[in-house]
Amino acid sequence: MEYKKPKGTRDILPDKIKLWQFMENNARNIAKTYNYNEIRTPTFEECSLYKRSVGDTSDIVSKEMYEFEDKGNRKMALRPEGTAGVVRAVVENGLLNSALPLKFYYFSNCFRYENTQKGRYREFSQLGFECFGTQSPETDAELIILIDKYLKSLGIKNSTLLLNSIGCPKCRAEYNKALQNYALKYESELCNDCKRRLKENPLRMLDCKQERCKQIFENAPTLIDYLCSDCKNHFETLKTILRNEKIEYKLDNHLVRGLDYYTKTVFEFEHDGFDNKKLTVAAGGRYDNLVEEIGGKSCSAVGVGIGLDRLVELVDITNIEQKPLYYILNTDDVELAKILPIAEILRNKGYNVEVNLAKRSVNAQQKYMNNINADYLIFIGKQELEKHYANIKDLKTREILDEKVTF
Ligand code: ATP
Ligand code: MG
Repeated sequence: MEYKKPKGTRDILPDKIKLWQFMENNARNIAKTYNYNEIRTPTFEECSLYKRSVGDTSDIVSKEMYEFEDKGNRKMALRPEGTAGVVRAVVENGLLNSALPLKFYYFSNCFRYENTQKGRYREFSQLGFECFGTQSPETDAELIILIDKYLKSLGIKNSTLLLNSIGCPKCRAEYNKALQNYALKYESELCNDCKRRLKENPLRMLDCKQERCKQIFENAPTLIDYLCSDCKNHFETLKTILRNEKIEYKLDNHLVRGLDYYTKTVFEFEHDGFDNKKLTVAAGGRYDNLVEEIGGKSCSAVGVGIGLDRLVELVDITNIEQKPLYYILNTDDVELAKILPIAEILRNKGYNVEVNLAKRSVNAQQKYMNNINADYLIFIGKQELEKHYANIKDLKTREILDEKVTF
């Protein structure tokens, strides 16, 4: 029996792992500079949490969620996105009673039953940021600036910030009516999904990928014209801050996002160099009603999810600095047991060290040392053992360093 990984999942092997660690380290460092702190939540939650937050009619819940019944007949689901679990944790642990704003970041593996293709998997990794407890457009701006900085820190170019506001339930209700009236004129030409969306969730029609639907909604009324004064002011202030901070954005009045919980600001960072296709690498927005919706007190929030599986394809490995690897080569007349304490001395100094664990001959060690891309060689024969020091050779320049290892 030969086992294969499940469709839509991947093994991340050593040649790629440094890219992942690079993305993770940069995220942690930048998060700290904005006082975002890490939070970790379960990989699965009660199914109803996602239905409630992401929305029953969303693609994620209605088509893509991994649902299962556990042995106690509880309906559970594997996390399809990160926000719902974090909101649940914040409410359940009473964190909203502490000093606000509360700022969290997390790495979470998410699961969606998708048509798999490059950049779209059934298990994928999201880096998320969530800020609870402020309504200010400055908070939205700070988060967008953080993401922009993060993408730049990874050396990622060619990404465009798309920006829109989808208002609050009050102004959106007005707009939904106008959009429904507009769509009704074309009802027979809409795709089946949009026919359903027309009744259940009109806003989503704007996001349809079908050519004919796209054409139809090109000339639909736009939400921006329906924003109430509070939502409008929020959006104007956000744009002003971004302009002042020299963050370029493109207004996109068809950007509505696939999750139900957003209010006011929605945004995406789209990359255009992904096999010449445009693909969203980060997506987020404000969600002022979600916390209350799932049982907390009224609390505004804003967040973003970053698709690390997509970013990893764009990170240039040559940008990543790595600590050098030292290889201690022992001659046949030196026991491996004598090498281990020397390796420990170096490791305690912070060096990365490999030794001859396979007990190979000198020739075979030289091959191995090249195969593992060692940067420095420390040669230890009988003489070195007696003198209690050894030279360090730079394997790239073939030069002996001034510095010696003493033991
Ligand atoms: P898309 O429109 O690409 O399907 P989405 O709106 O479903 O994205 P979100 O739920 O907002 O995406 O997730 C945030 C980010 O997570 C996306 O912008 C993307 O970078 C990443 N992402 C979403 N689904 C997948 C997936 N199946 N595989 C890899 N990355 C994903
Ligand atoms: Mg999707």
